[in-house]
Amino acid sequence: MNIVIIEDESAIADTLIHVLEMDGFQAHWFNTAGAGVAHLKTKSADLLILDVGLPDGNGFELCKQIRGFSDIPIIFLTARADEIDRVVGLEIGADDYVTKPFSPRELLARVKLRLKSIRRQAQPECEQGQDELRVENFDYVRGNTALGLTALEFRLLDALLKSSPRVLSRQQLMDFSSMPSEEAYERNVDSHIKSIRIKLQKVALAECLKTKRGFGYYFEKE
Ligand code: CA
Repeated sequence: MNIVIIEDESAIADTLIHVLEMDGFQAHWFNTAGAGVAHLKTKSADLLILDVGLPDGNGFELCKQIRGFSDIPIIFLTARADEIDRVVGLEIGADDYVTKPFSPRELLARVKLRLKSIRRQAQPECEQGQDELRVENFDYVRGNTALGLTALEFRLLDALLKSSPRVLSRQQLMDFSSMPSEEAYERNVDSHIKSIRIKLQKVALAECLKTKRGFGYYFEKE
């Protein structure tokens, strides 16, 4: 799970990153509103922790802006009582808030609660069974839904499915997918996997593509 943090105080961000990573989350920190929004517009994320007072803007305005293109759960970090009133008003589309100074454990509990309630609402995301993924025209298809993979994504997913449930390292994924050498960087593998996961959401299989931290990726079949 990817958690984005937009917070200008590095000490607070460091604490957050630490507790989240200790619990197996991936944390991406941005210290300005602009950088955070740019990230959210292009990358997938599961939850946003958003500070109200930012050097280049106000968290409330930012929240409204984000709601224009994303329904990502947002937990506010607020410092002042008048800020809390506005968050509680929920006019701005936030899901929850934590007041500063906060205990990292409390924040972690809120994050988990928020993610759990989303998972309950969403349909199960690793539901295999009656409909299997099949290949059609260099794309994977489930039921009537094609994933719309690029050629490289197709080769990456193909390698993972054929190796399932074995973990493939990023290097193996680059080799098996014949990734062009000018693109063959580990971080590129990560971003392609991210994009494949988003496409797998269309067929409720996103949760089947797993990260093995420190090793690589694998596809879990039932
Ligand atoms: Ca601040």
